Amino acid sequence: MHRIHNFSAGPAALPDEVRFNVAEALSVPPDFQPSVMEISHRGPAFADIAERLMAGLRRLTGLGDEHAICLLQGGAHLQFAMLPMNLAAGRAAAYLDSGHWAGKAIDEARRITKVHIAGSGEGGNYRSLPAVDPALPDDVAYLHYCGNETIHGLQFPEPPEAGGVPLAADLSSEIFCREYPFHRLGMAYAGTQKNLGISGLTLVVLRRDLLERIPEILPKILDYRTWADSDSLINTPPTLAWYVMLEVVEWIERQGGLAGLGERNRQRAAKLYAAIDGSGFYNNPVEPAQRSIMNVPFLVPDAELEPVFVREAEAAGMPGLKGHRAVGGLRASLYNGLDDGAVDALTGFMADFEQRHG
Ligand SMILES: *Cc1c(COP(=O)(O)O)cnc(C)c1O
Repeated sequence: MHRIHNFSAGPAALPDEVRFNVAEALSVPPDFQPSVMEISHRGPAFADIAERLMAGLRRLTGLGDEHAICLLQGGAHLQFAMLPMNLAAGRAAAYLDSGHWAGKAIDEARRITKVHIAGSGEGGNYRSLPAVDPALPDDVAYLHYCGNETIHGLQFPEPPEAGGVPLAADLSSEIFCREYPFHRLGMAYAGTQKNLGISGLTLVVLRRDLLERIPEILPKILDYRTWADSDSLINTPPTLAWYVMLEVVEWIERQGGLAGLGERNRQRAAKLYAAIDGSGFYNNPVEPAQRSIMNVPFLVPDAELEPVFVREAEAAGMPGLKGHRAVGGLRASLYNGLDDGAVDALTGFMADFEQRHG
């Protein structure tokens, strides 16, 4: 029997080892010892998980005391709102419009504060990344960018330059896919369901000096200071999601950390892009230097072939290749947890599909 290769855009594949470890941890032993889902978040067993997780996140981000690391709920969507509520503090906030997810963050920010669009890729149908307008006003509260546009398949090779303006980043589909200069960021957030484990958590990092700007009127649960001051244990956390994230963090470190994973991820993506570019049948329109190593959207010559591709790929053991409903087409997500044989299986299937339908 062939294994399934899971190309889902999110919630996404977990590394095999993590799945085995989690399954083991949740199994029911003969004495019914409680699992991580059934213990107090104030007790010593959970405290051990929390401590190891936070220490691992500090090692992977390389961040010291000048940044707080928090784990919230509500997904990236809650951060679209919390960021301007906490850090705009009566000032305008600048946003780079690079595609679908940047647009969602912009729409939410507009409900809360004045938004300055510092650059947009809309005119070019989001096939390349916008540059920061040199006339960026220097009194904006922060500059927000989406590090990896999950749907359009664009990735900032490095954080944009914003002068002295603090950077705020949505890293939901890019977090820990490679080494990253986290120390350059004022704030960053990432939902856990792509590269960090299962859904239910959002990693938030914040430069502590920015916490001083937060208005006093916010409800406590929406105030970043409450999270930073309570080790993210304001109330009952999703204990299973914390545990899975710990397994993922420890797995990343066993892969040679972010340097090792980054190398593997770049090679996998390069192989898939080479198959697309070399075919004359498949097409990826993104500016080559800005192509995502995590999400690879591609088109076939005739949109009527898309459902056929999705159906046949799934039958061949490769689910999750349908493009996002906002843009259609096809998309392979190559997150950290994707198994090593998956890209070869996909390029093999693509060559076969082209022969039959090209
Ligand atoms: C998946 C994704 C989101 C949405 O995340 P939720 O946790 O569902 O709110 C936001 N931004 C990016 C870049 C994403 O990939």
